[in-house]
Amino acid sequence: MGIYENVLKLKNDIPEEVTLIAVSKTRSLDEMEEAYKAGVRDFGENKVQEFKDKVREFHQEIRWHFIGHLQSNKVKYLVDKVYLIHSMDRVSLLHEIEKQYKLKGKICNVLIEINIGREESKTGLLIEDLEELLLEVERCEKVKVMGLMTVIPKGDEESCRGYFREIKNIFDSLKVRKFNNISMDILSMGMTNDYKIALEEGSNIIRIGEGIFGKRTYKKQI
Ligand SMILES: *Cc1c(COP(=O)(O)O)cnc(C)c1O
Repeated sequence: MGIYENVLKLKNDIPEEVTLIAVSKTRSLDEMEEAYKAGVRDFGENKVQEFKDKVREFHQEIRWHFIGHLQSNKVKYLVDKVYLIHSMDRVSLLHEIEKQYKLKGKICNVLIEINIGREESKTGLLIEDLEELLLEVERCEKVKVMGLMTVIPKGDEESCRGYFREIKNIFDSLKVRKFNNISMDILSMGMTNDYKIALEEGSNIIRIGEGIFGKRTYKKQI
């Protein structure tokens, strides 16, 4: 199946209220165009340089999602271009986002990325650091936390389901608390191999790369 058909099939498989993000990292503009033609308007990128190039050269009305590790010194390149940052995972990054968005007088919507599997190879906040980060968010003027994001460890269905449930429990427990600048509306979890389980466990944004574009080779240039 081609990219166009993959998108149509996914859209057919997922509930209407779920947002499908096409993760277009390493993909060419031509490949992205096929997803666009199939109706995708949400695209996800994980490298700032590639993101900047694509924002400049692709359609204007795209909602761009930044889903990768974000270095503080690169936040300035996202202001005014990104729709949602999924990977806010530390106080120092929060402060830099607040600073850069204040300079431009804009609001930044973010998700807190949680490293639920506690994998050293992954970014994301460890759960014991969550309360401190929430306190800092409450002091911000320009940053709005809209929910949570996670990338779970590879594993079988039972393992995936366990991690998704853990995150959903945290999401639900935060949802009933009252915070400044924090609402729990978005739960971004589920990728090509586990999105069906993620949806069963309460995800409302799935991030799909290979399931739309085919296997990644990390060689293509835009
Ligand atoms: C690459 C990536 C995805 C997409 O992964 P696939 O397995 O290709 O669907 C989703 N989320 C993040 C954070 C990624 O880096």
